[in-house]
Formats: sequence, C-alpha cells, structure tokens
Amino acid sequence: MITYLKSVPSAPRGSSVTDPDVAATVAAILDDVRSRGDAAVAEYSAKFDGWSPASFRLSAAQIEELIGSLPRQVIDDIEFVQAQVRRFAEHQRASLTDFEVETLPGVILGQKQVPVAAVGAYVPGGRYPLTASAHMTIVTAKVAGVERVVACTPPIRGSIPAATVAAMAMAGADEIYLLGGVQAMAAMALGTETIDRVDLIAGPGNAYVAEAKRRLFGEVGIDLFAGPTEILVIADDDADPFVVAVDLLSQAEHGPDSPAVLVTTSSSVASAALAFIEKLLVDMPTRDLAGPAWRDHGQVLVVSSLEEAFTVADSFASEHVEVLTRSPREALTAMKHYGALFLGEGTCVSYGDKVIGTNHVLPTRGNSRFTGGLWVGKYLRTVTYQEVTDPASSAYLGEVCGRASRVELFEGHARSGDVRAAKYAGAPLSW
Ligand code: NAD
Repeated sequence: MITYLKSVPSAPRGSSVTDPDVAATVAAILDDVRSRGDAAVAEYSAKFDGWSPASFRLSAAQIEELIGSLPRQVIDDIEFVQAQVRRFAEHQRASLTDFEVETLPGVILGQKQVPVAAVGAYVPGGRYPLTASAHMTIVTAKVAGVERVVACTPPIRGSIPAATVAAMAMAGADEIYLLGGVQAMAAMALGTETIDRVDLIAGPGNAYVAEAKRRLFGEVGIDLFAGPTEILVIADDDADPFVVAVDLLSQAEHGPDSPAVLVTTSSSVASAALAFIEKLLVDMPTRDLAGPAWRDHGQVLVVSSLEEAFTVADSFASEHVEVLTRSPREALTAMKHYGALFLGEGTCVSYGDKVIGTNHVLPTRGNSRFTGGLWVGKYLRTVTYQEVTDPASSAYLGEVCGRASRVELFEGHARSGDVRAAKYAGAPLSW
C-alpha cells in the first residue's frame, strides 16, 4: 500500500512525451539550420545565448590560454576524474571481444567492434558549466577509438567556461566550439559551411537539446535520450533522513524540471527528510532552482515493504536510484529499471555525476526501460562478416537458400543459391 506524504498532480512516470512548445521550437531551428547553415546557427546563438563571436571554434592558442588561467588544483582534479572515467571505459572496451565461430564445416561467422568515425559531443552549460560531461562524452569516445571528436558547449552568461574547455581539450576533443543548444546539435549533425557533419551526436542537455537529438536520430546516430536529470531514493528505517534530504536536493538543483522522489518503508524517515528539505531550502545557494523542482516535481511515498519499494521504484524507471537501506545490494537483483544504481550511503549520485568514473550521461523520462546510459559500446558499431571455405557446405547452403527464397517468392535470391549448388555439387539448373 502506498501513502503519499507529498505528491504532485501530474507527475509523469516514465512519460516520454515532449512538451509541444519545445517540440515546435526545436523543429523550426533544425529546419532553419538545415536550409541556411552557418547564418542560422549564428542567429540562434545570438538569440538564445547572446553570443556572436567572429568564430565559434576555439583556436589552439585560445585553449592554451584558458587552461593557463586555471588554478593547478582544478587541472589536477580534471586529470583525476578523467583517469577514473578512462579506467572504467577501458574495462568496458575490454569486455567487448571480436570473435569468429565455425557453425558448419568451413562456415565462418564473425563479429567485430568498429568505432564510429566522427562524433559530436555536447557538453551542457546553460545554467552550470557541466565540466564533468566533457569527461563522460569525450574520454569515452576516445577509449572507443573514435577518430574525430567535435565538442560543443555554450558560453555561460556571456563568458567562456574555462574549466569546461580545459576538460574538453584534456579529454582529447579534436575541435572545440563555443556553441550551445539546438543550433549546436544541428550544426554537428547536419553540417554547415564551416563544420563538417559527424556520424553520431552524444551527451546530455536540457529539454531542447534532448528533443533535438530525438528528432535528428536517423539522419545521425544518437547515444540516448538524456534530458533533465532525475533522482529516486529508496530508504528503509536505517537511512539517515538528513542524508536523504541532502541527496534529493542535490539533483533538484539541476533545474525546475528535475524530479526528486523518495520511496521509503519508514514514515518517520519520510517526515524527518521532508522537514530537513524545508530547512535546507531556506538558505541553499541554488534554492531558486531546487525549490521549484522540489515543489513541482518532488514526491514522498511511504510503502509497506522493501519489495514494494523496489516495484514502485521500477515503475518510475528513474535515471538515478540511490538505495539507502541495510542491504543495498538487494536492489541489484530486485530492480530492473534505472539508469544507474548507487548502493549504500558510502556513495551518492553526486559521486556518479562528478568524480567516481561510471558515466553520468543516463536515460531520463522512463527511457531506462529500454536503454542503459552512455558507455564505450554506444560509440562502436557491432558489425558481422561471413566466409565459406568448404565448397560442400556452400553447395548445401545454396540448396537450402534456393528453397527458402522461393517460399518468399524471391527468385533472384534463389538463383544465387542455385548457382553455387550447381557449381560446387553439380546440382541441375532449371532456369
Ligand atoms: P544546456 O547546455 O543543455 O542548454 C543550454 C542551451 O539551451 C542554450 O545554449 C540555448 O541555446 C538553449 N535554449 C535555452 N532556452 C531556449 C529556448 N527557449 N528555445 C531554444 N533553445 C533554448 O544547459 P542547461 O539548460 O543548463 O541544461 C542542462 C541539462 O542537462 C539539465 O536539465 C540537466 O539536468 C541535464 N543533464 C542531464 C544528464 C543526463 O544524463 N540525463 C546529465 C547531466 C545534465
């Protein structure tokens, strides 16, 4: 049984429907960039970001100067985090092996992982300079073996986000553009007079960026739909309600459209966490974003058992799920739908977002029902090949191919089989 201590009337669970106004705006910008290229990109950058530089691309000298302007500690921390992301991504790469199998005598079937040639990595920066997204999108692409990585990030309130640019360069980006939003996604995916188009666009972003990716899919590959962030915390009576409150607000501060949900078996943890949230919001520096997010999208559900908590959490298919219970690893078998799990109080979504090394680009709006987050495999194409070295096997396959194709009325296909059956086993040709 679920008791709502805080609910929101229209909270979508796993709803992937885009706001019609956002959808219309995005469609118009994409069409415009498609037909007018650089001129349209420049206009939208001026309109949405107040940014009209002579060139959106940063030169090597500009990048060097920006890196030089940063305190040593910032550079050291970027190096540390990129090393964590790289290490995990390298393990992922190693888990994907090429193989060949002989399924019949002389029939060799094989599979290879081939990197996408050119990727557009989006690093968000409308509200906050999301430096960590540079590690997640670019380091992972380079570990996958992507040759050309084009990286875009918007200016933040009219200035260049130096740490983000440093992280993009240190991660190995080949081209860096100070360009945001739909115009950046369109420029990378469709190409313009000055930007060569890429084969796949990746990275998180706000509702406009996520919708642009969704619409561009097909003309270009995408990693996944990674929109406004979400958190769901599962807590039992062992959980510290202060930690629960802090962690819920840590994700609510992303923006007023970020849901934060507590599912707990303990009504006292629920009430205490609610009270802490109200207290914390009073002087939280980012309360202007976290407050509306919590007011409009925050929920607190009290359930009767942990089993029910896992079932309810699964129905949200949330991007991030923190498990603050006595035996957090139970969630690994009990839960199916989430972008990333954070097991126990020793870790938290902020570690995943900023430092620990798993990728923070994760599915939102219930998309974790059908995809995981960004990983090395999203930048690889799994391709197959085949060879038949035994003529007797080719002749046998030719006979079966002839019959199977004629069942489908494909005479041309059938003849490719017939001709081999005739050549390698002397079967008569009846045409
Ligand atoms: P952003 O870079 O995604 O978007 C900024 C751009 O939005 C601007 O450059 C501007 O061009 C465009 N824009 C703003 N208002 C517009 C309008 N009215 N019409 C058309 N375009 C407009 O930065 P942000 O806004 O700070 O959002 C970052 C988002 O990324 C947050 O929602 C955060 O939760 C999300 N995020 C998601 C994940 C994930 O994996 N799901 C990870 C990190 C961050």
